[in-house]
Amino acid sequence: MIVTIDGPAGTGKSTVARQLAERLGFEFLNTGAMYRAVALVCLERNIAPQDDPAVAAVPHSVRMIFRNNRLWLNDRDVSESIRDTTVTEVASIVASNPEVRKQLVALQQQCAEQSNLVTEGRDQGTVVFPHAACKIFLTATAEERARRRMRELSDQGQAVDWEALLADLQLRDHRDATRACAPLVPAADAQIVDSSQMTIDEVLNHLEQLARERLQLKATTVRP
Ligand code: C5P
Repeated sequence: MIVTIDGPAGTGKSTVARQLAERLGFEFLNTGAMYRAVALVCLERNIAPQDDPAVAAVPHSVRMIFRNNRLWLNDRDVSESIRDTTVTEVASIVASNPEVRKQLVALQQQCAEQSNLVTEGRDQGTVVFPHAACKIFLTATAEERARRRMRELSDQGQAVDWEALLADLQLRDHRDATRACAPLVPAADAQIVDSSQMTIDEVLNHLEQLARERLQLKATTVRP
């Protein structure tokens, strides 16, 4: 059984998808981390993100493994380094490379062969798992997403400029939505959830209910 959660950057998809997977007893797949890993390798090897053939050779050249919700590249845990802002920017560019997408999509589909999955990204319900039983498109206004990101960064003690954050989010949204290969769009049969006015817990409870209905799973716990 597969639950897909797609949507733009900064909607809290990863947090919600990870917790939903725990509640359902499913595995969690963070596909953005895979594009980030390709970006990290490009940066480390001085490969220009626009150099399509060189970037396309990257996924073949490394072993990517998820273990306990951490991403390993060969024998290195890169879970922290892929969150770097430079990596974020480059990931958004290399993600438009069709060859890279083809290879990562194949890896993502392999992950679903062994287990039930909650998977999050941009194309999970449209391209990677078009037959998923439960598809969710999680969104929020760009302003609210930038506000959330700003709170997160200031909690970590980082000084941030809200205007710059907003501009960066909008640029990434634009790239994701307008690329030729697997653009960010809701699947025709996805449930659209706008989280602008919801807390993470409200989103999580709502998605759990949707998923259990769609997958015809019984509610095993009663939550406040
Ligand atoms: O979700 P996250 O911000 O970690 O994703 C990093 C980048 O990878 C995004 O900016 C997006 O361009 C790309 N991505 C994608 N398809 C996915 C997941 C992420 O194009 N399934």
